[in-house]
Amino acid sequence: MSEEMKLPDPSTLKDEILAKYPPKIARKRAKSMVINDTKLDQEVQSNVRTIPGIITQRGCTYAGCKGVVLGPTRDIINLVHGPIGCSFYAWLTRRNQTDPGPEGPDGENFINYCFSTDMQDENIVFGGEKKLKQAIQEAYDIFKPKAIGVFSTCPVGLIGDDVHAVSREMKEKLGDCNVFGFSCEGYKGVSQSAGHHIANNQLFRHVVGNDDTKPEGKFNINLLGEYNIGGDGFEIDRIFKACGIDVICTFSGNSTMGAFEKSHTADLNLVMCHRSINYMAEMMETKFGIPWMKVNFIGGDSTAKALRKIGEYFEDEALQAKIEEVIAEELPKVEARAAEARKRTEGKMAMLFVGGSRAHHYQELFKELGMETVSAGYEFGHRDDYEGRKVLPTIKVDADSRNIEELKIEADPERFNPRASEIKLETLQEKGLEVSDYKGMKSDMSDNSLIVDDITHWETEKLIEFYKPDIFCAGIKEKYVVQKSGIPLKQLHSYDYGGPYAGFEGAVNFYTDIETMLSTTIWKKLKAPWLATSATDPCICAEYVA
Ligand code: SF4
Repeated sequence: MSEEMKLPDPSTLKDEILAKYPPKIARKRAKSMVINDTKLDQEVQSNVRTIPGIITQRGCTYAGCKGVVLGPTRDIINLVHGPIGCSFYAWLTRRNQTDPGPEGPDGENFINYCFSTDMQDENIVFGGEKKLKQAIQEAYDIFKPKAIGVFSTCPVGLIGDDVHAVSREMKEKLGDCNVFGFSCEGYKGVSQSAGHHIANNQLFRHVVGNDDTKPEGKFNINLLGEYNIGGDGFEIDRIFKACGIDVICTFSGNSTMGAFEKSHTADLNLVMCHRSINYMAEMMETKFGIPWMKVNFIGGDSTAKALRKIGEYFEDEALQAKIEEVIAEELPKVEARAAEARKRTEGKMAMLFVGGSRAHHYQELFKELGMETVSAGYEFGHRDDYEGRKVLPTIKVDADSRNIEELKIEADPERFNPRASEIKLETLQEKGLEVSDYKGMKSDMSDNSLIVDDITHWETEKLIEFYKPDIFCAGIKEKYVVQKSGIPLKQLHSYDYGGPYAGFEGAVNFYTDIETMLSTTIWKKLKAPWLATSATDPCICAEYVA
């Protein structure tokens, strides 16, 4: 959509959607559906319970803890304590990629396994701790891992198994294996976001800081909130290497326990998906004195901007020159591909309902394709993800948030070392670098765009009818419903079979994939058989053959 085009006012759409809800529910949903006015500070209600009966995109707390944060780490055994059904999230559903490690594919890479205690009725009635101990012992005997994480599912919380006591006991018994538990029962928070927080807490408590070996590089960073979906992390690592920047640890794409243990030796934390990992950045700053900056490696321009921020932070002329050299080498290829793709994508409309940062980050790539995001929202975002970090002091802590432990962190008496002075950080902020800060999605969206938090299926259908977008970005649960409406859907949790989409090469991949998806008319031909007007009406349908 060109700059002079204005988005349609979606007020009637909003009224029509809300009219179908009972009054109390309509009042609640109205607060999560905001018609954007960039001149106003509008509150976007988020991180509140999904209304029972509404079909949500969200996952549970355990899914966020095990699936998102710990799932991509290759040398920990993630043991799910619960019924086998929960272990859908124990298997590699997010396409996290990993290096095979020094021992090759047969080495310590456990992410393609599912480990579960497979609780049965008798464990629910008589308790599952004995079975959990046996499972930890069995996993240890077979694989001899460095670490075992134990993840609590709903039934475990309900019957009161103490996974922490069992983990402590087994850690002591095994001697050379770090065993620790997560109280991440599915019901613990309103979405997977609570699971991210719990995962951050336990990694910080049991792993970060366990190895003080000093790094050898000159510019040592951690990348937080990058999960190596479809190889995103590999592409970002390639760019860092070209610039001479050393990554101590990525939380948690392509990560290892050893990297987590040394992560406190870095000089800067770069935060990509702030929703899932800002807790870690804050705790590392308080305990070890490592500053953090928001970055976005989604989009060619964003990648260049993120690299320049790192250069400014380290205030090193040679590094800055190298970064400019890399950008000069990489960006023209990205811009050339974008210019070519724009012939088919310019003026098209996108909708994004995914994650707690992705619905924001990917708007950059659509902008580079000349496309407008007409509506967007998060599955598990909080108000600061929409409105910016400035609203944090005004967010009321409700009972659900209070349910999640807040670690009390203090400066480490020996290892606290402020990597940058207050004056330096203030100067960087004055130059526009987002130090300890991030803007929300709202300020980057156009006036009249519709922001919807925790969108429901009913709302999805009405939005599609109203906007008739050219592409919809969400996850597997929405994919087929949206495609049956004649709209192509790009999965932004798993990238379908594509990616990487981060960094320079990732941007090129994304342009090509979106250009291809927008160039096909196949989805428009989808029509329910009973809607075909004649035998020759273009219609793709299937019939059951016995
Ligand atoms: S909601 Fe509870 S029962 Fe369902 S997958 Fe999550 S932990 Fe398991």
